[in-house]
Amino acid sequence: MKFNPASNIQDLQYFGEFGGVNPSISDSSTYTFLSAKTMFDTFEGNADGCYLYSRHTSPSNLYLGEALAAMEGTETANVSASGMGAITPVLLQLCKSGDHIVSSRTIYGGTYAFLKNFTPRFHIETSFVDITKLDVVEAAITPKTKVLYCEAVSNPLLEVADIAGLARIAKKYNLQLVVDNTFSPLSISPAKLGADVVIHSLTKFINGSSDTVGGVVCGTQAFIDQLRNVNDGASMLLGSTMDSLRAASVLKNLRTLHIRMKQHSHNAAYLAQKFQEDGLKTVYPGLTSHPSHELFKSMMNEEYGFGGMLTIDVGSSEKANQLMELMQQRNLGYLAVSLGFYKTLFSAPGTSTSSEIPAEEQAAMGLTDGLIRFSIGLDNDIHRTYTIMRECMHELHILQPTLV
Ligand code: PLP
Repeated sequence: MKFNPASNIQDLQYFGEFGGVNPSISDSSTYTFLSAKTMFDTFEGNADGCYLYSRHTSPSNLYLGEALAAMEGTETANVSASGMGAITPVLLQLCKSGDHIVSSRTIYGGTYAFLKNFTPRFHIETSFVDITKLDVVEAAITPKTKVLYCEAVSNPLLEVADIAGLARIAKKYNLQLVVDNTFSPLSISPAKLGADVVIHSLTKFINGSSDTVGGVVCGTQAFIDQLRNVNDGASMLLGSTMDSLRAASVLKNLRTLHIRMKQHSHNAAYLAQKFQEDGLKTVYPGLTSHPSHELFKSMMNEEYGFGGMLTIDVGSSEKANQLMELMQQRNLGYLAVSLGFYKTLFSAPGTSTSSEIPAEEQAAMGLTDGLIRFSIGLDNDIHRTYTIMRECMHELHILQPTLV
C-alpha cells in the first residue's frame, strides 16, 4: 500500500487512563520503581517500559514521538524542547572531534551559525555546498566526513534536496544523511527516500498555532537509544526536553496537520501563480518555473501539495520593508519570523532569520535584499487576500496597476 503519513498518524489508537479519547498527561518529573533492582536495570538501559525521569522519557513525550515516527515512517522518535534542541544533539551525537560535515549552504540561520561558529570549537568542521548539485556534494566529502546535512526544502530559498540521490552518496561513503523536513511535513517523507535521520522544528506547521517551540528527531530505535543514553546521549545530557503538558497539546494539533497542510499548499499555490503572472520574481516549488519542480513532484506525497512557503523579490530591502508594513496594516498577516501559522507571516530573511549568514555568502547563494519570505496562512478566501495584496503592491509601485 502507498505510504500515507496522515493515515499512519490516524491509525494510532490511544486511550487515556480512564478511557479518555486522549492519552492522559503524565504530570511527573520522576517515577517510582517497585524494586531497587529495576531502577538499576533502567539506568543500564535494560528495563523496557519503565520510566525513570522525564528528561529521559515520559509517557506524554513517547505518545507524541510515536505519532511523529508514524508520520515519517521511522522506527521511533524523540521529541525535544525546540527544533534546535533536536538538531544540535543529533550532530553532536554523530560527530566527534576531528570529524567533518557536508551541509547545504542554504539552511536555517541558527543551524548555519551552529555549524559555522559553534561546532569548530570542538574541531568539527563543515563544508557548505550547493546541495542541488550532487557532484559538488560528493566532491566535498573527505575521509573525515560523517554526516550529510540538508533541509528537504530549504529556508529561505526553497531549494529542494534530491534526497534519494543524497542517500545514494551517503551509502557509498558510509555517511549519515540527516534531513530537516520542517518546511515540508507530509508532502515529503525523507526516510522513505533514504534519509537516516529526519528532524522537524515542531514550532512551525506541525504544531501550527505559534504558541510553543518544539522539535523532534525521527530515526532508528538504535539511534534514538543512543541519543537518550544516560552515559553519553546528547539529548539526555544536553537536556533539551519537551514538557509533558506541551507534548500533549502538540499531539492534539498534529491530528489536523493534513487538513491544514492542504489549505496552506492550496493558498500558496494560488498566490504564487498570481504573483508570477503579475511579473513578480516568485519562487515556489509548485511553479513549473522552479528549477526543482519536477524533482519535488517525483518525491512528494501528492495530496498535501507543494507546501505553504513562497518567496518574492521586490528589488530592495526598503521596498520589502514598506510592503510588509503595509500588508500588516491591511491585516493580511504579521511581520514576524517563523512559519506555519493560520495567519500569513512575512519577513525579510536577509536581515532576520538568515542574518547569521555573512553578506558575501548571502549574495553567493542568491539571498537578495528585496527577498520576502511568506508562510501563507489558512485564509478561507485567498482570492480576496490576493486582491488586497495586489492593491498594496500598486500603492508602493512594486506593481503597475492594470485595468481589470
Ligand atoms: N529548522 C528550520 C528549517 C527552521 O526554519 C527553524 C526555525 O526557524 C529551525 C529548524 C529551528 O527550530 P526552533 O526555532 O524550533 O528551534
